[in-house]
Amino acid sequence: LSSTTSRQFALYGGRQTVTLIPGDGIGPEVSDAVRKIFLSAGVPVDFEEVNVTSSNLRSGSCEDALVSIRRNEVALKGNIETNVDELDLDEKSANVILRTKLDLFANVIKVKSIPGIITRHNMIDIRLIRENTEGEYSNLEHEGVPGVVESLKIITAKNSLRIARFAFEYAQRNGRKKVTAVHKANIMKLSDGLFLQCCREVACDFPDIEFEDMIIDNTTMQMVSNPYQFDVMVMPNLYGNILGNVCCGLVGGPGVVAGANIGSKHRVFETATRNTGKSIAGLNIANPSAFIFSSSHMLKYIGLHKYASLISQALVDTLQLDRIHTPDLGGSHTTSDVVDAVCKRVESQAYKVRYD
Ligand code: ADP
Ligand code: MG
Repeated sequence: LSSTTSRQFALYGGRQTVTLIPGDGIGPEVSDAVRKIFLSAGVPVDFEEVNVTSSNLRSGSCEDALVSIRRNEVALKGNIETNVDELDLDEKSANVILRTKLDLFANVIKVKSIPGIITRHNMIDIRLIRENTEGEYSNLEHEGVPGVVESLKIITAKNSLRIARFAFEYAQRNGRKKVTAVHKANIMKLSDGLFLQCCREVACDFPDIEFEDMIIDNTTMQMVSNPYQFDVMVMPNLYGNILGNVCCGLVGGPGVVAGANIGSKHRVFETATRNTGKSIAGLNIANPSAFIFSSSHMLKYIGLHKYASLISQALVDTLQLDRIHTPDLGGSHTTSDVVDAVCKRVESQAYKVRYD
């Protein structure tokens, strides 16, 4: 999630500014969690906070966020509620606007079993790479004749080749052995057929990495029965959304998995399932782990490796050794309990990083 680009980041003495969009629902609580932990660790990052919520979109908050992310190049973001009833037909979700305007073409989620979180399968280690800008999310729907709706799914060779190449390069860089392309080309012969063709073409440039393809329906079944067969997976937008959520469920749910949206210039780090958790907002029971892991990936990306490991290790130890679990993990601890425990662990180790 945090491979570096050609960008030069400040190393010594410099503080870095990162855009923070808390978003709706539990976003503000988990953002506070990250702030507290960064403070405990003495992380040299200043957040430029931009409040984009479902209720202030019409006042230009989304444009403000774009300006900020374009300037800082890196953001940490909660999810913005998309209210189905209030949106006009051609009005896009703010989340989709940010992704498309910044051309964050790849969504990568790290699906890895976390020590201390009991699930049906252990030792899962999959990277799911999702085309993030087109497909079923193109927002082109119309009702030409009453009662007949057409919805356009856009698949282009340009974006399919780009995401396929990204997946193979990711696999190569991270010592991965196999890439699985997921599709439904048996039914959507032209659109998914093109996606698959592009993946096959790119695969030829990576003879050391095994390539296979699998139909989405079979993939979901295989994923819950034998997830160990999968390594790096690449797919169009909507399949990535669904399969990504299945994967998160396998390793502990929406509260523990981080994701990143990657473009050629900008990166927006968020949780893998992009939930708002409206139903549990303000109750101090949200699991902040996914957002904390996400912040750690962000730190690694901007070159603050030691702070990144300090924080992710403190969180793993909190979950595994202290057994501080929020209700989604079957525990009875609060969000603050998790944050306090992580801060305590971070504080006892932070001097090693600061004066290193
Ligand atoms: P809602 O907005 O109705 O809460 P979401 O789609 O945002 O629903 O989330 C799906 C489910 O996952 C909900 O039950 C929500 O409470 C839960 N959930 C999402 N994020 C978290 C989290 N960080 N910690 C615990 N539960 C979460
Ligand atoms: Mg929600």
